[in-house]
Amino acid sequence: MKKIIKLILLVVVSSFLITSCGGKAGNSLTDIKERGNIVMYTEAGFPPFAYRGNAGSVEGIDMDISLEIAKEIGVALNTQDVKFTSLIPSLTGGKADFVAAGMTNTEERSKTVDFSNDYLVAYQSVLSLEGKGYQKISELADKKIGVQTGSTSDIIVSAEAKKVKLEDGTTVDGIFENTGTEIKRYETVLEAVQDLKNGRIDAIVVGSIVGDNLISNNPDINDEKLLDRDGKEYSESNAIAVKKGNTELLNLINKVLARLEETGKLDEIYKKHAESIIKN
Ligand code: GLN
Repeated sequence: MKKIIKLILLVVVSSFLITSCGGKAGNSLTDIKERGNIVMYTEAGFPPFAYRGNAGSVEGIDMDISLEIAKEIGVALNTQDVKFTSLIPSLTGGKADFVAAGMTNTEERSKTVDFSNDYLVAYQSVLSLEGKGYQKISELADKKIGVQTGSTSDIIVSAEAKKVKLEDGTTVDGIFENTGTEIKRYETVLEAVQDLKNGRIDAIVVGSIVGDNLISNNPDINDEKLLDRDGKEYSESNAIAVKKGNTELLNLINKVLARLEETGKLDEIYKKHAESIIKN
């Protein structure tokens, strides 16, 4: 009797071990091929990178690039639309195989995830209603500024509320210190657009590729300037992120990006979505 119980226990314990270790979803190329699909996480309120098309499904530059990555591996693409701030945790937690969300490769982020080569380069831009013409970050002092939570735009304007570290390593007082500037954070830039139209905020700071798209979709927001601090614009990259150390997948992604660039397909993808009209 004792032996039978021991045996049953052994079976239970070993099957538990199999499901918790052997069955665990990994993110290596082999795991992806075995699974038959690759999991891409994005935030689909960020046209033209990722947005809900008129049919309700996720479309955009990042979606088309991701389809090419899936095709290269020979698996289906599994797309997940989450909050921007959940994207990096989805990689570190192993839920996502990669993130394609118009994400910028920053020093801080690259401490926790690995980035591909850049596939697009943009600038920070300021959107406002007709005639405002905000361009210098100092012109935004004492204004209400909308940004997407956790985005590089959020990081840049938030830094101005305290001490700002410049590129040459020197530290200066933030332009917004003691000015009464209000920074309003939104889950998506589309929500910020509504508030700008309703006069609840004075300006939106957002990447220029997205800014261009928002302007073409919203005729009443017709002022877009590149944000500038002391005569210098803020350029930023867009890259795909994978879990730290997932070099095999990263190399494959870089290979796909290089092919898309060389064949002119990336240009085509960009043009297809750049001024895409979306319902919002
Ligand atoms: N490029 C910006 C960033 O990485 C915005 C990206 C986004 O909001 N999807 O923060």
